[in-house]
Amino acid sequence: MDEQFARARAHLAQVEPGLVDFLRLARRSIVVNLPIQMDDGSVQNFVGYRVLHSRLLGPGKGGIRYHPDVTLTEVTALAALMTWKCALVRVPFGGAKGGIACDTKSLSEGELRRLTRRYIAELGDDIGPYTDIPAPDLYTDARVMAWVFDTYDQMHPGENNWPVVTGKPRELGGSQGRDQATGRGCVETLERFLQVDGLPGMSALDGARVAIQGFGDVGTAAARCFRDRGARVVAVSDSRGGILADDDAALDLERVAAHKAEAGTVAGTPGTRTITNEDLLALECDVLVPAALGGQIHSGNVGSVRARVVLEGANRPVTPEADDALAARGVPVLPDILANAGGVVVSYAEWVQNIEHHDWSLEEVHAHLREAMVSAVDRVVARWRGFPADAATSGLSTDLRTAAMVEAVQRLATVTEQRGIWP
Ligand code: NAD
Repeated sequence: MDEQFARARAHLAQVEPGLVDFLRLARRSIVVNLPIQMDDGSVQNFVGYRVLHSRLLGPGKGGIRYHPDVTLTEVTALAALMTWKCALVRVPFGGAKGGIACDTKSLSEGELRRLTRRYIAELGDDIGPYTDIPAPDLYTDARVMAWVFDTYDQMHPGENNWPVVTGKPRELGGSQGRDQATGRGCVETLERFLQVDGLPGMSALDGARVAIQGFGDVGTAAARCFRDRGARVVAVSDSRGGILADDDAALDLERVAAHKAEAGTVAGTPGTRTITNEDLLALECDVLVPAALGGQIHSGNVGSVRARVVLEGANRPVTPEADDALAARGVPVLPDILANAGGVVVSYAEWVQNIEHHDWSLEEVHAHLREAMVSAVDRVVARWRGFPADAATSGLSTDLRTAAMVEAVQRLATVTEQRGIWP
């Protein structure tokens, strides 16, 4: 994050340096200790975090992740990413992130519920529908969000508490289309980029050859959306391996999903050839979508990437060194804060519906998502094309990621100046 921020900052020489420092740093970090009675009667302490990076544009917004590697540093970086993302796609939220260092695979459902309730109780009024609104992230899901809501609701009786958390089950005010939003938003992003002639020689998705790393929420939804718009998804992968369609055909995605549901992996789907994740990243294709983990395309393997455009479904899948190498070869990277912002756009839709006690149709949610993504792409492309001709020779970064970051940071700087530094 610091590297990305520094690249954007170099374009913002007119903004007061102290203000830029303020925009980079988190506003507030909370560390909580959570004693949990385990099923065997023992007591185990877990450490939880919640970082509010910015509330300049509205309440903090960001997921809660449960993973053994969760640290304050990681949560802080991801909270900053949320600030830039929300500013870029113009949802009226700031950035936040939370997490607990734990291994959900070794916890029973009861232990997980007690851990979640204790965490939310400890955060108290540091989260709330108008202050900081959590959502699901790595190893947390709608079921965990239901406990988040219920705990907060027990602590605040008599209020409309539905908007305190998004990504809830449908029965508890979750929005239509939230599960597909990020993958669909990726496809909307690329389609718009092609429509505005972002990639010479490719103006539409029809017939495009697509490879997708990761076949989870984001990868699956993106794959189906690509298929529905006439593209050919030829390869997908998960943590246990990848597959390539026989005879260069498009994959039968429903067959792949059914195989994964049964076997736990896409590998071995009938009518496909098994490949490694490295093979998938090196496939000759039009579009490569890393939609699994961070740091997947790096200085060690970027030389083998043969896609014409990279679409970041995951957060930070391309390292800064790989960014530079791809830029030098003229391969555009549609960056995470733009490409995977569909999730937060539909989270915002859920929050609005909860406040208004409405339930939008799937068509309304899709239309809202499309409009938000199209206008964000247009703003980023305008910035990108507006970089001075001598910027690159002056050592400034002029890729799409930098354009997106400049757009986001500039907006936050303008809002801060208009509000006036307090007191
Ligand atoms: P998920 O857990 O549903 O899916 C992740 C997928 O990645 C799984 O198929 C998993 O098997 C695969 N995977 C794990 N390790 C892998 C490896 N080494 N090689 C190849 N595949 C591997 O998660 P998700 O919700 O789809 O999120 C994917 C990424 O997108 C994450 O980086 C997440 O932070 C980011 N993201 C998600 C959302 C969202 O709304 N879900 C929004 C923004 C960003």
